[in-house]
Amino acid sequence: MEVIVARTPKEVKEIIRDWKKQGYSIGLVPTMGYLHEGHGSLIERAVKENDKVMVSVFVNPIQFGPNEDLETYPRDFDADLQMIEKLGADMVFHPEPSDMYAPDFSTTISVAGVSENLCGARRPGHFNGVCTVVTKLFNLSEADRAYFGQKDAQQLAVVRRMVRDLNANIEIIGCPIIREDDGLAKSSRNTYLNPDERKAATVLSKALRTGKQMIESGEKNAEVVKSKITEIISKEPLAKIDYVEITDWNSIEPVDIIDRSTLCAIAVYIGNTRLIDNFIYEV
Ligand code: AMP
Repeated sequence: MEVIVARTPKEVKEIIRDWKKQGYSIGLVPTMGYLHEGHGSLIERAVKENDKVMVSVFVNPIQFGPNEDLETYPRDFDADLQMIEKLGADMVFHPEPSDMYAPDFSTTISVAGVSENLCGARRPGHFNGVCTVVTKLFNLSEADRAYFGQKDAQQLAVVRRMVRDLNANIEIIGCPIIREDDGLAKSSRNTYLNPDERKAATVLSKALRTGKQMIESGEKNAEVVKSKITEIISKEPLAKIDYVEITDWNSIEPVDIIDRSTLCAIAVYIGNTRLIDNFIYEV
């Protein structure tokens, strides 16, 4: 069946009303488009677990800082639509920013603590923008389940906290990181990398793999693991570290001793492109 393209919140609401009337369960996959297999894995899982699936393709302006890549963020809606259709989703929501944000839009969702370290510390306002748009998508879709990648681990932790705190009636499903054959986590932003940078970018997953092995072999001192990861990345001339952190996976507060479920997260500039990657260590 052909996928329905909805351009406005009003169109989405009409379709959802119809789906709800028929008693369908609904899965939501929020994305910024320029889809790759990482997004694809979320859509596939949503299609398996729900009667109807809505994918949003929206480069959300309010989650970008003034000096970030809102203007240059890659976009290819036709290719996205083809992929979404092939994977069997039922609706694509592709609004204009003006459809999402009235000129006098004045409400922001802010999650304290869990959104304040890691990317939250480097990208002020980023998670407020994410939480606000995600809440709008939850409300519009009335979804039973929403699918998020562990690629953006802090985002997943922040959204889970928001849903718990606000008693939102939706289940958050975290999905594993999909990687290229050489280990690089798939990302729409990988398209910014020139061939030399693309090669250099494998240093992120290589460093994380070593860090994970250290922990699995019994190293519990976070500082020791962070130093090793930092050392590996520092040897790559095209790489500049933004952060290397080990935190509690629930609170996103830094830990000294790895004695519980922890998130090891890194952000690294390869040339001008900021890439993120992580692993979660479950005790
Ligand atoms: P984005 O379009 O980058 O905002 O990502 C939309 C969703 O896809 C988010 O939940 C991301 O975490 C998820 N995602 C992006 N890249 C990957 C990946 N390589 N593996 C799994 N999920 C991903």
